[in-house]
Amino acid sequence: MQPFFVTRWGNPSSAYRFGAQLKAEIDRAHEAVAALVGAEPDEIVFTSCASESNNAAIGAALAARPNKRHVITSAVEHSAVLNFCKAAERRGYKVTYLGVNADGLCDLAELAAVIKDDTALVSLMWVNNETGVVSPVKEIAALCHGKGVLFHCDAVQATGKIPVDLNLVPADYLTISAHKLYGPKGIGALCIRNGAPFEPMVIGGHQEAGRRGGTENVGLIIGFGVAADSATRNLTERAAQVRMLRDKLEFDILAAIPGSRLNGNQALRVPNTTNIGFDGIDSDAMVAFLDGQGVCVSSGSACMSNALTPSHVVLAMTQSVEKAKQAIRFSLSHLTTAKEIAEAAERTKQGARLLRT
Ligand code: PLP
Repeated sequence: MQPFFVTRWGNPSSAYRFGAQLKAEIDRAHEAVAALVGAEPDEIVFTSCASESNNAAIGAALAARPNKRHVITSAVEHSAVLNFCKAAERRGYKVTYLGVNADGLCDLAELAAVIKDDTALVSLMWVNNETGVVSPVKEIAALCHGKGVLFHCDAVQATGKIPVDLNLVPADYLTISAHKLYGPKGIGALCIRNGAPFEPMVIGGHQEAGRRGGTENVGLIIGFGVAADSATRNLTERAAQVRMLRDKLEFDILAAIPGSRLNGNQALRVPNTTNIGFDGIDSDAMVAFLDGQGVCVSSGSACMSNALTPSHVVLAMTQSVEKAKQAIRFSLSHLTTAKEIAEAAERTKQGARLLRT
């Protein structure tokens, strides 16, 4: 990325030679991100973040179907979807927030039942960011299309962790973020399938084929492309390695700490996440303790945890504010080592002992 911030100036839209060179690099990034999700390069639109992609997708679907005033989402979505839907409610839309069971999964029969003639869009995530639980998105896409409803899928936590192929899961809109697959922060993408209606949220110039105005953030786009390419090439290997470490960490903690429990379905999960609740321990106290020990974990999503509120995801799964206040999310990467995992497990056991006395 560095040359694009330091020496390779120029505007990709300009006619001079190095403008065209930058444009070619951006095209290559489109190809890399498209390959990661089984899409065509011209279906990818770079945005400033996944939150923007989520807003743009839902907004476009509603704008395209002005007579349809109903949206379906779930109680465990990211705040970029939940708060956009709440804003839509204030503008007169009706929003159904599907609940989830103790495994963190929505009921497909319930989804089928709540889709009505005036439903414009279903927006459901592929993988939950707090628990790592994987939704049956293939069935959800089929159900939506069978009923003529658009389907937006927030795949931020799925891409780079498990195979994401839009040829198998035909979502109309797919949200992706670079920094969840080891790319830079501040850059996301929205995949708009050919044929899906779209009106730009950022109205401006012709950039991104007129679907997102504004001069491209070339350095970040290049970084996203390289990260996407690396994720595509290394997905299987990274997943196997991280799953082994995650399972070890989880086993060590659950076996050693009485009153600890897994939140979410054990089998239907991405390999890098585990969400564990500790009876009698406030998650904020555990996060602070572990932080002091050099172990970085979280008690909810980064976008929510500043608010010191109980995890809305674990609350929806358990209906227990107490359990929602005890949830800790451990996220690993292929760069995490076995030594670090052993250390994290030890510190967590120490934390549980100290915080319960
Ligand atoms: N959707 C999910 C599932 C996420 O986990 C996140 C980030 O944590 C986002 C959306 C928002 O991503 P960004 O911070 O790039 O807007």
